[in-house]
Amino acid sequence: MTFKALLLSQDTTGDKPVVTAEITELDDIALPQVENSVDIAVEYSSLNYKDGMVLRGIGRLVRTYPHIPGVDLAGTVIDSADDRYRPGDKVVCTGWRVGEMHWGGYAERARLNADWLVSVPEGMSTKDVMAIGTAGFTAMQAIDALETNGLEPDQPVLVTGASGGVGSSAIMWGSALGHHIVASTGRLENAADLRALGASDVIDRNEISQAPDRPLLTERWAGCIDAVGGETLAHVLAEMRYGGSVAACGLAGGNTLTTTVIPFLLRGVNILGIDSVIAPFEERQRIWTRIGEIFDADALASITTEVALDDIAGQASQILAGLTKGRTVVRTRPIP
Ligand code: NDP
Repeated sequence: MTFKALLLSQDTTGDKPVVTAEITELDDIALPQVENSVDIAVEYSSLNYKDGMVLRGIGRLVRTYPHIPGVDLAGTVIDSADDRYRPGDKVVCTGWRVGEMHWGGYAERARLNADWLVSVPEGMSTKDVMAIGTAGFTAMQAIDALETNGLEPDQPVLVTGASGGVGSSAIMWGSALGHHIVASTGRLENAADLRALGASDVIDRNEISQAPDRPLLTERWAGCIDAVGGETLAHVLAEMRYGGSVAACGLAGGNTLTTTVIPFLLRGVNILGIDSVIAPFEERQRIWTRIGEIFDADALASITTEVALDDIAGQASQILAGLTKGRTVVRTRPIP
């Protein structure tokens, strides 16, 4: 049997390697061999910042070509060498370096290790879980970490990169869980949409995008979900309330952090590292269950754009430039 896929190739003949993408038909036998393999008819994938990097060949995330990108995927099991899954089961995969080290979701078929899968939660579709995807999963991990470290309902929580996938999801989940969410965005024209998702206030990211001019600024935030990093993160650390925590998720604004230890020593501030990629199975199940308990299909639909497999490669530069809004799902096959 053959299946349709977006295949990346690398041309190393010039000064710099060049990565190109083409839609192609592959034979099933091209699928890689993996332990505990589960074959999946992929229905949806999604677009994450990391997918943008992979599609453009940035960051040496992919070492072996030809390669199928797509860090997220959801679909129906068609064959399983593992007792936990049977044909017909709906499954979701985020992380585990799928779409980087392993072939990913921009195809009609995938073969993955059963350990990387989670069953699609009751009441959700494969499109819903891809509208959430790595970004929404990470946002819930971040809120969960803040709560574990003492965040109480109604306390002010800053969300940076608010118009993006992690940010929009953090607003939805945080407000649904009773937190007072303040959204920071460079696109104030999105303010009404961010409020509709649940933000109580919206601020211009320019307020917090420069390194602070002194180690401690006026205390503002009990918690922060930071998708931006860089000078924004340095600024936010100086504005954290006593005992507050920042869940550091992303680097959309830079991966360098220059700060002082003063917020940690004088205000007991915490930085909590958030990793969605290697999160163990039990944590994944718990986080997906939490999402399933509060997810609002209409709110999710309002931040979701659907594109076909043939059109996804053109979206890479958009997400890398911070120009996409909310979440983009990729329909990999005609859905009846
Ligand atoms: P998106 O591109 O969807 O969102 C990023 C948002 O950040 C943009 O929408 C924009 O929001 C803001 N932004 C973009 N560029 C800049 C800039 N130069 N300075 C300040 N703000 C900027 O990406 P995602 O939400 O999918 O991912 C966000 C980050 O989180 C990425 O760095 C990604 O790699 C990381 N990530 C980490 C994960 C983990 O496991 N730790 C998992 C998933 C993502 P606005 O216009 O509103 O300001």
